[in-house]
Amino acid sequence: MLQINDLHVSIGETQIINGISLSINSGETHAVMGPNGSGKSTLANVIAGNPNYSVTKGEIIYKGNNIVEMPPDERSKEGVFLAFQYPVEIPGVKNRQFLKTALDAKRVHSGQAEMPIREFNKLYQEKIKLVGMKSELSKRFVNDGFSGGEKKRNEILQMLMLNPQLAILDETDSGLDIDALKIVANGINEFRNKENGILLITHYQRILDYLSPDYIHVLLDGKIVKSGSIDLANELEEKGYSWVRESLASE
Ligand code: ADP
Ligand code: MG
Repeated sequence: MLQINDLHVSIGETQIINGISLSINSGETHAVMGPNGSGKSTLANVIAGNPNYSVTKGEIIYKGNNIVEMPPDERSKEGVFLAFQYPVEIPGVKNRQFLKTALDAKRVHSGQAEMPIREFNKLYQEKIKLVGMKSELSKRFVNDGFSGGEKKRNEILQMLMLNPQLAILDETDSGLDIDALKIVANGINEFRNKENGILLITHYQRILDYLSPDYIHVLLDGKIVKSGSIDLANELEEKGYSWVRESLASE
């Protein structure tokens, strides 16, 4: 579904990603871990098409096409979804209306009619329940005045409603209490199927225990320096990133 080849990315003059290659097949969950500033959000944003980042070399093949030049809304309509590390507040746009509009844009893109309001309501109620969101929040503006945890749940709600093929989750588990974390993990597990793929950026072992990803990658200074199974995450938890740096230095 996704094949990233020798990707180099810069912001302005600064090179942030220095040659990442990564493949995600349908049905797979990949976790990316790495210290602050290693380029995790940059990777997430560049796949989603954030125009602030420029690809200076390499390619991002999604469903068989290089999408490097594809505008972000087009990528979204083609099934790419990014849950932001820092979700934006959009005063003036109601949460529910935002989701209806986004969902309809996707449907129209794929040749379907807009979703009938009754069907939408049913789906919406179902997903709201799944993420344990107070229905009062849906009448408010997108993320406007939401708590940190509410914003993260709202990102998962968006994912569940839009049902993307590739979901990139940038530290969606950060700043959640234990109950909220369980709910978010539940939502992700509910979403997962043979047809979609997940790129999960995280610092924490706990969400990995709930999701048991197929692969773990360690990102360091804009490069994937180690990949492995869940055991790698356990090792990281125990020994920290300095262990990765040291083991690289001694190779
Ligand atoms: P991570 O998500 O792994 O913590 P980021 O991808 O957010 O890391 O950032 C990687 C590096 O890029 C950091 O050194 C950060 O300061 C830098 N960076 C991110 N955004 C910008 C920007 N808009 N301008 C300049 N440097 C940036
Ligand atoms: Mg980040």
